[in-house]
Amino acid sequence: MTASEAARDLFTVLTGRSPDGIWSAPGRVNLIGEHTDYNEGFVLPFAIPHRTYAAAAWRDDRRIRVTSTFADEPVEVSLDDLTQLFPTGPDTSVPEWSAYVLGVAWALSETTGARDGLCGVDIAIASDVPVGAGLSSSAAIEGATATALDELWSLGLDPVTLAKAGRRAENEAVGAPTGIMDQMASMLGRPDAATFLDCRTLETRSIPTGFTAEGLELLVIDTGVKHSHSTGGYRERRDACERGAEIMGVSSLRDVTVGDLPRAAELMDDVTFRRVRHVVTENQRVLDTVDALTDSGPRAIGGLLTASHASMRDDFEISVPELDTAVDTALAHGAIGARMTGGGFGGAAIALVDGDEVEAVTDAVAQAFATAGFAAPHTFTVMPSQGPRRDA
Ligand code: ADP
Ligand code: MG
Repeated sequence: MTASEAARDLFTVLTGRSPDGIWSAPGRVNLIGEHTDYNEGFVLPFAIPHRTYAAAAWRDDRRIRVTSTFADEPVEVSLDDLTQLFPTGPDTSVPEWSAYVLGVAWALSETTGARDGLCGVDIAIASDVPVGAGLSSSAAIEGATATALDELWSLGLDPVTLAKAGRRAENEAVGAPTGIMDQMASMLGRPDAATFLDCRTLETRSIPTGFTAEGLELLVIDTGVKHSHSTGGYRERRDACERGAEIMGVSSLRDVTVGDLPRAAELMDDVTFRRVRHVVTENQRVLDTVDALTDSGPRAIGGLLTASHASMRDDFEISVPELDTAVDTALAHGAIGARMTGGGFGGAAIALVDGDEVEAVTDAVAQAFATAGFAAPHTFTVMPSQGPRRDA
């Protein structure tokens, strides 16, 4: 059964009727640009074929009912209670997963200012995006929900506004202090192209990756090591970046360039400096990757991907042994470039690989994990895919 069918079936179990429609949004992988988003820098993610589906329909009252294949039981609240649930942070009276969906409903009702005119909805969620693997199942569930509600509530909002509602839900309803990248990547996805995003101006540019023409595939190696944004490491890195910007006398690390690094080294302690150096050099690597893709094609970006991994491993210190093993093994078996992707402390690595070498790299990584005594990784390929759509 596909995830789309699972969403439809679950909807019918919940309500005893058919949904008015099924809307979906993709997960994303970040080609390069890690921990740059909240520093107002640059990122280059793309939407992946894996999607989250929201089967949904109007109700003629003001209740919102949500369920997911992921959940033990449905959650039901009144539209009128959303304001009490979310303005001040994570609410413990609803399960965390439901805050992604209800938070989007809340954020959209706030954005439009039309809360009193909105009808209730039933929503059933199913997904084939791996959860917690650094592929942003969170942006996918937010994007699917936002796209469904945009149509059911006749809001007519543009994809960027829907992305912002997703981010607000994640920040204020769930309480995860994440940037806007994931939602923009999901909402603006295009086949065979990545989305360059300037996280300060929110300017976006679609950058053809040329993977298909070159016969390349992006291998995702999900280590199965779970990360959590709510716990310490992510917060600590954000704090270090803020501290570094303050010491440099700028509002964010976006305003620090590679040429400023010698001065930064003199002004700050070693740990803060290395956090800063990662962000500053990573921003430059994103710009260089865009240039390389545009001028020379995807085979020219391998060194930049691999340098990004070294920076996260040594300077930002967010890799784990499983990720390092995945990257090193992929490179040793012919990958053009490889790096961990996502927030770190677990999740997935990516490797840019010739199509006819995918199997050899996959086998080598599985072997290396077994030898190291790690749990078997989950490995699959992704290609840049389209953003939200209505499926039925
Ligand atoms: P990632 O976005 O990297 O997958 P996050 O921690 O940001 O990891 O988001 C994962 C969380 O999003 C899950 O723990 C769950 O609360 C919620 N979520 C994602 N997909 C679903 C789904 N299909 N149904 C219910 N909740 C989901
Ligand atoms: Mg996420």
